[in-house]
Amino acid sequence: MLWLIITTGECNLKCDYCGGSFPKEIVPWKVSYNIENLKKLVEKDKSPTIIFYGGEPLLNYKFIEKVIDNLEKARFGIQTNGLLVKLLPKDYWKKINVALLSIDGRQEINDKHRGKGTYKKVIEAAKYIKNVNPNIETIARMTVTNDSNIYEEVIHLIELNLFDKIHWQLDVVWSNKWDFVSWARNNYVPGLRKLLKFFVENLKKGKIIKIIPFVGILSAHYHQGYIGSPCGAGYRSVTVLSNGKILSCPIAVREKWANLGDIYNGYKLLEEPMPDYCKKCEFRKYCGGRCLYAHMEPYWGKEGFIEIDEVNKEYIKMVLSIIPEVDQLIKEGIIKVTDLYYDPTADSTEVIP
Ligand code: SF4
Ligand code: SF4
Repeated sequence: MLWLIITTGECNLKCDYCGGSFPKEIVPWKVSYNIENLKKLVEKDKSPTIIFYGGEPLLNYKFIEKVIDNLEKARFGIQTNGLLVKLLPKDYWKKINVALLSIDGRQEINDKHRGKGTYKKVIEAAKYIKNVNPNIETIARMTVTNDSNIYEEVIHLIELNLFDKIHWQLDVVWSNKWDFVSWARNNYVPGLRKLLKFFVENLKKGKIIKIIPFVGILSAHYHQGYIGSPCGAGYRSVTVLSNGKILSCPIAVREKWANLGDIYNGYKLLEEPMPDYCKKCEFRKYCGGRCLYAHMEPYWGKEGFIEIDEVNKEYIKMVLSIIPEVDQLIKEGIIKVTDLYYDPTADSTEVIP
């Protein structure tokens, strides 16, 4: 199972689509529970993946050290903006399996939203951690806004040759409403089509470029489909807040529906992770309902939710349209079906942007 451990609610950046730190009274900036309590819970899990999360988790690197020292058998990862990678001693980086680094694509696009100079710093961070631990897997974790050109941003990140996988989330629902539909029609969907073509051209050469929103759907087709949000929220993933509360989703820090328990008394997973809205959808196996939070807190209203969902369906259909070609490549032995397996809870990604 995936354990998202929030080491602090504080962040050292204030990206415009996120807003920076959580208020201290909601997500404390220090961990207030005893590590033994966490240890007892995680040790009951046969195959735990612990991902350090925040805020910016490296602001509390001491707690990261403590968790790694106490839970040696777990798999470890981190979601970080990369600015403080040198705070965590090298010996600990060597024990981390996966690092998700925030980067939105080309420098001008990244720095416009994340702050001047952040692009250069995250690139330096990726080089640094790869140098310290050549076995670490790096994932570019992008936020895609109305300034992004999905094809250009993703190709740029691939060409950097620093990231093993690429994943993105759309800046929808969380921010104030913007004209997502026009942007999707004129920019995003055509860009996705071009990117998918690039992906298929590489498949034909036997190369699977790990673009997670593509690979995650192919995995659901050839392996196991999703029974809830691919991120695992509440059924394959839990979030431990710095005050010991256990939640289904790391974003739902204020919402009662997300409470699953606490570090002292344990937690109860969701029995029905698929949102009602999705139970009859033909794409549910590939999509899992996308994001649980967006169903529970539709800030763009019902109409806005449906607009996003229509674009989502178009993207899913687009990826599924390559299945006959992929079948043929598997048949010819150019790619292996096993290489198309992807478990988003091993990486703490969401698959569906
Ligand atoms: S495509 Fe839309 S309706 Fe279908 S499962 Fe995904 S979120 Fe639900
Ligand atoms: S995809 Fe949605 S439900 Fe899953 S972790 Fe992100 S915000 Fe929460």
